[in-house]
Amino acid sequence: MKTYKIAAIPADGIGPEVIDAGLQALEALATRDGSFQFDVETFDWGSDYYKKHGVMMPDDGTEQLKPFNAIFFGAVGAPDVPDHITLWGLRLPICQGFDQYANVRPTKILPGITSPLTGVGPGDLDWVIVRENSEGEYSGNGGRTHRGLPEEVGTEVSIFTRTGVTRIMRYAFKLAQSRPRKLLTVVTKSNAQRYGMVMWDEIAAEVAQEFPDVTWDKMLVDAMTVRMALKPQSLDTIVATNLHADILSDLAGALAGSLGVAPTGNIDPERRSPSMFEPIHGSAFDITGKGIANPVATFWTASQMLEHLGEEAAGARLMEAVEKVCEAGIMTPDIGGTATTQDVTDAVCEAIRGSN
Ligand code: ATP
Ligand code: MG
Repeated sequence: MKTYKIAAIPADGIGPEVIDAGLQALEALATRDGSFQFDVETFDWGSDYYKKHGVMMPDDGTEQLKPFNAIFFGAVGAPDVPDHITLWGLRLPICQGFDQYANVRPTKILPGITSPLTGVGPGDLDWVIVRENSEGEYSGNGGRTHRGLPEEVGTEVSIFTRTGVTRIMRYAFKLAQSRPRKLLTVVTKSNAQRYGMVMWDEIAAEVAQEFPDVTWDKMLVDAMTVRMALKPQSLDTIVATNLHADILSDLAGALAGSLGVAPTGNIDPERRSPSMFEPIHGSAFDITGKGIANPVATFWTASQMLEHLGEEAAGARLMEAVEKVCEAGIMTPDIGGTATTQDVTDAVCEAIRGSN
């Protein structure tokens, strides 16, 4: 029997509610399969921990996480703790400390969920967005001079490295190659930005040579938003910079019907350290404790985690169960249903148990 060590960090708001739902589904999958089990350790890091200890996690937090096979993360953010503390105190140190350079965001329209695009249903929109997660526009370089004076200047410097761009490009081509359509769209803004973005285009063309069976094209990010809305069927795998993919994946989530079902994996493809899986949504304090948080994004990211652990069949089984439950209309209020978190979780676990 294989044992996977999972570090659960439920953190803030609805984080504990959706992680609890996700762990129930994982348990049902392990029981159904019989060939693997989970050894879950839960860490109480987050905003409450910060209020007691002055830090979001202990100084040796990433050291403590190292021995795990994967990290299952809820959400961070609290009304009474500044955003820069919650974000820079927990999520980002893990992403950066473990060099989880590929942020992978699958998006598709689940059965029973309505896209705001007329005439677009499940099958018309099935994308994976690969976001560069370690450098670019969010590398934190820049500064300000003459604060408050008329001559004040603020700079925000994007840093792209050949190593950073090549590795994310290779990851994206490989992912595109593994999907049935073998189709990749590389997004930049190389008409207006003449250095880093042109380097992206050049490196894409170089890496493409290693993947002759992948069909690929280039899009400018502005035109890309139009294509996503008007021709969703023409896209499959998408790779973009930290900033561009951040924006495009919010659009993708909305076009697929709801941000509340969107998952994300922060992946270290070289497997030097554990990767981290989480729903895209935040801590949602407006619905915390009401038992109505949508667990679908967390189920989906649990499925990504299973795939990463090499349990592809269990990952697929979980998504089939989720689709079946959505199709049956067992949904939380945010996507038009009347079910509670536990109703949806029970239905998904039931579907797992009854699956072939
Ligand atoms: P953050 O800054 O952490 O991203 P936010 O307030 O910007 O937080 P969310 O916490 O994601 O964003 O909440 C945005 C809205 O979406 C809220 O009204 C919240 O209730 C709703 N929402 C988010 N996630 C879910 C979920 N899983 N189920 C139901 N509603 C959700
Ligand atoms: Mg937000």
